[in-house]
Amino acid sequence: MKRKYEGLAIGIDLGTTYSCVAVWQEQYCRAEIIHNDQGNRTTPSCVAFTKDQRLIGDAAKNQAAANPQHTVFDAKRLIGRKFSDQVVQDDIMLWPFKVTAGVNGKPMITVKYKNQEKQLCAEEVSSVVLTKMREIAEAYLESPVKNAVVTVPAYFSDSQRKATIDVGNIVGLNVMKILNEPTAAAFAYGLDKRINCVEKRNIFVFDLGGGTFDVSLLTIKDNVFQVKATAGNTHLGGEDFDNRMVSYFVEEFKRKNKVDISGNPRALRRLKTACESAKRSLSYLVVATIEIDSLCDGIDFSASINRAKFEEINLELFNECMKTVESCLTDANTDKSNVDDVVLVGGSSRILKVQQLLQDFFKGKELCKSINPDEAVAFGAAIQAALLSEDIQNVPKLELQDVTPLSLGRSLVGDIMDVVIPRNTCIPDLIEVYEGERTRACDNNLLGSFEIVGIPPAPRGSHASEVCFSIDENGILTVSVKNNISGCQVKKLIQEAENYCIYDKKFLKKSKAVNALDDYIYKMRNALKNEEDINVKLSTEEIEKIESAIAVATNLLSENNQQLEAEVLEDYLKGLESRMEQIIAKTV
Ligand code: AMP
Repeated sequence: MKRKYEGLAIGIDLGTTYSCVAVWQEQYCRAEIIHNDQGNRTTPSCVAFTKDQRLIGDAAKNQAAANPQHTVFDAKRLIGRKFSDQVVQDDIMLWPFKVTAGVNGKPMITVKYKNQEKQLCAEEVSSVVLTKMREIAEAYLESPVKNAVVTVPAYFSDSQRKATIDVGNIVGLNVMKILNEPTAAAFAYGLDKRINCVEKRNIFVFDLGGGTFDVSLLTIKDNVFQVKATAGNTHLGGEDFDNRMVSYFVEEFKRKNKVDISGNPRALRRLKTACESAKRSLSYLVVATIEIDSLCDGIDFSASINRAKFEEINLELFNECMKTVESCLTDANTDKSNVDDVVLVGGSSRILKVQQLLQDFFKGKELCKSINPDEAVAFGAAIQAALLSEDIQNVPKLELQDVTPLSLGRSLVGDIMDVVIPRNTCIPDLIEVYEGERTRACDNNLLGSFEIVGIPPAPRGSHASEVCFSIDENGILTVSVKNNISGCQVKKLIQEAENYCIYDKKFLKKSKAVNALDDYIYKMRNALKNEEDINVKLSTEEIEKIESAIAVATNLLSENNQQLEAEVLEDYLKGLESRMEQIIAKTV
């Protein structure tokens, strides 16, 4: 039974470029997107700092060109990452705000607020956006909100998920659940189009947003949503397409005017805004134009780009998306022909070339465009929030079974990754790590030996512990060390295992000796039988010798002599063989 939460609960899609909040409306039995103070249904995930104030959302984005160094966007791209991460380094090159390495390599954003320099981590920036989303909901609901389901890209790592929960904690919001974005979108689609679906349907969610790309294959049956596989890229989306267009126009400006604007944050910010707008137009126009007055050194910039050129400069990224689609289906062990619905989610799924490549991949299948790609994730989050809320009764009983997006494991000697939980394993799951050489798991020691930050290294031979890799419903890994056993106990267990090993070997040796002697008794009996059947002449003495040997050997194998060592039987057989060799030879 899932834990239920008291009080109002909302669903928040905390996106890289835009965020969206929704709430379940019991009286209408549907989720509703809440508009912000500007009347917009999505809010830019943007925070700006000026000498007088802090601005969030539309207000921040609208002044970005005038205040580029202190207007922070894309903070989600930094969440849970290290400064040294290559993707962080690549992004920094294109951002007008300053990012430096903080404690433990955490990327820190430098802004000027009220004329004072401040350093912010990505979690802090995201928490400001989250606060804004909560305020938007509280204004609409005319009541305080303390619970929320927050969505993350399915491909977010463990640390990125934890960081998102931290973001909630920073603003005092109780994060009831971290929900994967494509799963949330599937909830929205399922509720809208496939409610009470009796036949199993395979749903493929293609979620291409501003900064991340996710795909998931789910099955829906009887309102149970089971994720089969998920794949993605936490660093691929609309921002990348914009950046490529920016680079294209930077070159064009250089060529036309002999001026390089790549080191001019204000010019870059203005160009980027214009490029994003042009990109959107290319989803319905064949040519888009860009007009920017006095872009740099008083030079106006007027240029155009046609759809074919836009597609050409981004084709490599679009093809990368298709590879991810393929790998998700491979992981799910599902052929593309078995996919019933391909659902488009995320603002960038509007790009016509992306739609065409996807449709071609699915052999001309019509793509489902019925749900709003900007809002579906928040819708789904609101449904999940209602399901977890004690106070909401009138909500369809949808059930979710999700998977872990990345493999989880431990490091073995030689820096080898030992996968403990393979990617796309159903969660929640609990795995215990065993150590030992015995065949049956229960004959081994339930323990683990790995480095945990903050715990002093154990003495040699004593780092034995009972380790539990567990994944909760948020996809967060908890590696717990239970019943830590002492060095003495470990030695004892190792000794016991060695004893078992010696015993196992002895047992095997004795079995072989018993079988060999038994075989020889059979051979001797056969000799006597042949003597009768084929009339081989054996002397009476020889016959008596065989009969007496059979009696002694049989006695050695009897229950009375079970304690005899293998060597005794082996030695006896050796002597027997040499004594009987010639006699037996006469009978074959
Ligand atoms: P999301 O993260 O889902 O809010 O998606 C935001 C991204 O979608 C941004 O990069 C937008 O520029 C992009 N986007 C929104 N509408 C369109 C459109 N019509 N064509 C292309 N990209 C779009």
